[in-house]
Amino acid sequence: MKILPFLFLAICLTSSLAAQKPEWCKKLPRPAYSKLERVPNTDSWFEVYKIRPGVFAIYEPHQLEEVISYLIVGGEKAVLFDTGMGISNIRAVVEGLSKLPMSVVNSHTHNDHVGDNWRFSDVYGMDTDFTRVNARGSKDDAQAELAPGELCGALPAGFDAKTYATKPFHITHWLHDGDAIDLGGRTLKVIGTPGHTPDAIALLDEKNGLLFTGDSFYLGPIYLYRPETDLDAYVASMQKLAALTPHLQLLLPSHNTPVADPGYLPRVVTAIQQVRHGDVKPVITDGKHEYVFQDFSFLMR
Ligand SMILES: [Zn+2]
Repeated sequence: MKILPFLFLAICLTSSLAAQKPEWCKKLPRPAYSKLERVPNTDSWFEVYKIRPGVFAIYEPHQLEEVISYLIVGGEKAVLFDTGMGISNIRAVVEGLSKLPMSVVNSHTHNDHVGDNWRFSDVYGMDTDFTRVNARGSKDDAQAELAPGELCGALPAGFDAKTYATKPFHITHWLHDGDAIDLGGRTLKVIGTPGHTPDAIALLDEKNGLLFTGDSFYLGPIYLYRPETDLDAYVASMQKLAALTPHLQLLLPSHNTPVADPGYLPRVVTAIQQVRHGDVKPVITDGKHEYVFQDFSFLMR
């Protein structure tokens, strides 16, 4: 009989949690994931998908950013393109996928992409002051990720919300636009794409027609409102990426869904130019101007 009050409490808790579920969370899983090859892993904070041979998407669906990090494996070494939120241990996940020496490269140094950088000893960073400042770590942006409405489901056991912060990390190699990282049988070219941030990059795997776009492009609202965003630079960077379209098979963006058609790149260029010419009426979303196009939008000041 003693179990009944607990059962009652459990039912109340479950139903009140369901009622509190934020709108974005109710729409998950996104339809694109049903077509992808899921790789089993033991940490339920992450979902892992095999996108191509040697290319894994590591997705964090329980936080509004729905951030995606990528493990890219060559014959001799592997690159982890971003380390996610730092809410659970991404190093344990990627070490279960590859035993090769591993380097971290960041799409840019916003908190949701560098959260677990501190766990790695080999970290590439763009040679910018923005990168150097962010490598010192910070707390406010990390804490904002836990605000009401930001979470979908449970945080990992043992996670301490009060002390959650982006931990400082050490950069061991400096990167510049045009650099190449040789993984053995696979080369990743670094394409500087300043705009979203001064240190934003895309990675091009030319041989396999893959472009990892970071936050310069993904399906969803693209954030272009922060003080570090430079719209002129963003337009130029997207033009640079769009010029690659004929050589690409797949875009692998850093939020929401890990696969997108390269045909989106020229559409983004047209769209951002229309916005800048004042040809598109915004809607106001959370006090910001959102310019909505098919499958993506720009969120601006
Ligand atoms: Zn970002």
